[in-house]
Amino acid sequence: MKTANKKLKQIRDGVVDCQKCPLYQTRTLPVIGQGSHDAKIVFVGEAPGQNEDKTGRPFCGQAGGILDELLASIGQPRENVYICNILKCRPPQNRNPLENEIKACTPYLEGQIEAIKPKVIAALGNYSMAFILKKYGLEDKIEGISKIHGKVFKVGESFGEIRIIPLYHPAVAVYNANMKETLKKDFLIIKNFLDNEK
Ligand code: URA
Ligand code: SF4
Repeated sequence: MKTANKKLKQIRDGVVDCQKCPLYQTRTLPVIGQGSHDAKIVFVGEAPGQNEDKTGRPFCGQAGGILDELLASIGQPRENVYICNILKCRPPQNRNPLENEIKACTPYLEGQIEAIKPKVIAALGNYSMAFILKKYGLEDKIEGISKIHGKVFKVGESFGEIRIIPLYHPAVAVYNANMKETLKKDFLIIKNFLDNEK
């Protein structure tokens, strides 16, 4: 088995049995992640919502529909990218993630990044952006997503140089066409980067 596949399978097994924070008690299914194991780009959302909790698949509800549209707008099918979240289990009533939950769960996300070795991490929304920037020593750059969206941060990983791009969470565009336009513009930054990589 390819190393990435093996590592991702180990992570999956770990998450399925995980009791590291109380969320395992209230979730239906954990939502581990989905997509290409050698994706150039990893999208990191916040946490599963109701639909994801039922199906075990990330971004399969309304926000997921927007994400698909955004991916289509830059010619990237979902199968090309990897999509996961900060938290693997749904917080009750979709409340915000808690500090202890983020601390307990993010080693899984870090393992996923190490396995996939992407060129770009697209951090969707405030929680994801803050975690990812902190992880790469950029805590002092953290600001609200309305200010930081679309900026590109170049950082070093053990496997090479990567870009971090904070984006609005696609859920903000469900009832807001202006936000969708803003997201589409920001997605062009990803497209440009991927085009130049070729
Ligand atoms: N919102 C997220 O942040 N992640 C999902 O998987 C679905 C909705
Ligand atoms: Fe484990 Fe993460 Fe689920 Fe908490 S949210 S139980 S840390 S997999």
